[in-house]
Amino acid sequence: MSFRLRVFLLTLVVAVVATGATAWLSLRLSAQQIAHTQQEATRHVADIAETVRAYARRHGTWAGVSDRVALLAADNKQRIRLVNLYGQVTVDTDTLANRAARPVVSPPTLINPRPALALDATAAERAGGKIDAVILDELTRYRRSVVYAGCVTDNGGDPPPVSPDAYGVPFPALNTEQNPDCTRRADDTQQYARDADLAAVSGCHAASNHISCLIQAFGDRVDTFAPEPLQLFLGAVDDDPVTLLGRPLAASIGAVLVLSVIGTALVARHMARPLRSLTAASRRLAAGHLDTRVRTTGRDEVGELSRSFNRMAAALEGAETAQRRLLAGVAHELRTPMSNVLGYLEALQDGVVPASRELFGSLHEEVLLQRRILDDLQDLTLAESGHLAYRRTDFDLADLVEAGRVAHLAVAEAGRVRLTAEATGPLPVHGDQDRLRQVLGNLVTNALRYTDPGGAVLLRAFPAGGRAILEVRDTGCGIAAEDLPFVFQRFWRADPARDRETGGSGLGLTIARQIVLDHAGTIDVTSTPGRGSTFRVTFPLQVDV
Ligand code: ADP
Repeated sequence: MSFRLRVFLLTLVVAVVATGATAWLSLRLSAQQIAHTQQEATRHVADIAETVRAYARRHGTWAGVSDRVALLAADNKQRIRLVNLYGQVTVDTDTLANRAARPVVSPPTLINPRPALALDATAAERAGGKIDAVILDELTRYRRSVVYAGCVTDNGGDPPPVSPDAYGVPFPALNTEQNPDCTRRADDTQQYARDADLAAVSGCHAASNHISCLIQAFGDRVDTFAPEPLQLFLGAVDDDPVTLLGRPLAASIGAVLVLSVIGTALVARHMARPLRSLTAASRRLAAGHLDTRVRTTGRDEVGELSRSFNRMAAALEGAETAQRRLLAGVAHELRTPMSNVLGYLEALQDGVVPASRELFGSLHEEVLLQRRILDDLQDLTLAESGHLAYRRTDFDLADLVEAGRVAHLAVAEAGRVRLTAEATGPLPVHGDQDRLRQVLGNLVTNALRYTDPGGAVLLRAFPAGGRAILEVRDTGCGIAAEDLPFVFQRFWRADPARDRETGGSGLGLTIARQIVLDHAGTIDVTSTPGRGSTFRVTFPLQVDV
């Protein structure tokens, strides 16, 4: 899985978990909050309803109930709304708090301050034939107490507490005659109501169920003066859904935030681990520990980066090993001619050998060899690092072969080797003529060097398979099969002692191969020991021939 996809998926997982957790926590906490609010409401509703009802009973009116309701709301931390059966609002704590009244959702509780007449067969029996008078008396007294209490309340007073009598009708426990104005008003009310009371009670004489008819008649009459029933609605002090859910939401968002931060930190840690180990490995590598490698897991970008790092480290290590070997090789190669020169110079100094023309000639040879080794090394270093300058032109490889033959003719004749050339031209190639002449020169020099007198060296150039082929074939000593793989390695010689004698640096073929490779060419060798070798070089042809 790619690194990008992994980052995407892991972030997605964190996001989904965070969102899910937020939703779950919010739902849970909101449900808890709502349940708590409902519980609170249920717990308070009975108390509030009873207090409000007691107010109406004692005061005989709803007037002035708002102060009591405001206190109740504050004590119980509830929003209270009282509405009559026609939907008219008596009190709303929202309005009292100078805010727009919010819609109510909870089911209302009915507060009925009107007393129901507690009249049953036993009570009726007890009253005997005077039951109508008893009911009328109850109505009169009750009306009187209601009007009186209402009047006291209107005047800003506090009516006396009430308690129910034997028929369940509440009356003031104290003397109602304390307030003459209100007593008068209460008495006045009776004048207009008594006839209607009488008519209602008398209407029950013909009723089949006398008792329930009386109860009904009592209720009907009470309805005309007692405070009306109200509906009580409760709600949370602040049951605005936004603020109601605010706390649980804030809590869940906080929890999810913490969860997400931890989750993301873990994910980031997990993903950064390979990068951290890569950083540590880079530092170790920079400190010179070239054998440092990192664990490569996965096929994603980080895995690819780890593999690249390992390749780079291996290349560095290889380069360092090669450099060390090269230095060792250079030291080894230079040591012998240097020792020779040193030996001769010391012998000359000590007078052990006489100074002669031959001796100086020999010393000159040794120094020349050292210079050749150094020149070749410079070429090789430049070629291998890609810094060897090439001046490329289009030319005919057939001409190069002929020029090579002519250049080496004298050496060939001196060695009594027959040097011939065959070229099937034209063979247009693109490259650096001087460098390719250097390659050919190295091959021809080697061929002549390893071919005994009487032998032959043949240079050939011909087209084949869209490429220009250059061959140097000799009838020399050849190269053993097991040595062939090393021929192009630097400082490799089949016979170091003999080759050094012949002035070879052991770098010629290595340089030649690098130059050929830089011309998009190939070089290889086939050889049969004792019968000769063939070095074959190919280059791309500039045009089809
Ligand atoms: P040098 O400058 O010593 O010749 P080269 O890199 O040109 O170095 O050759 C490496 C070795 O390959 C030689 O020392 C020799 O042993 C072997 N070699 C190269 N060309 C021939 C050849 N034509 N016949 C036999 N051996 C060869």
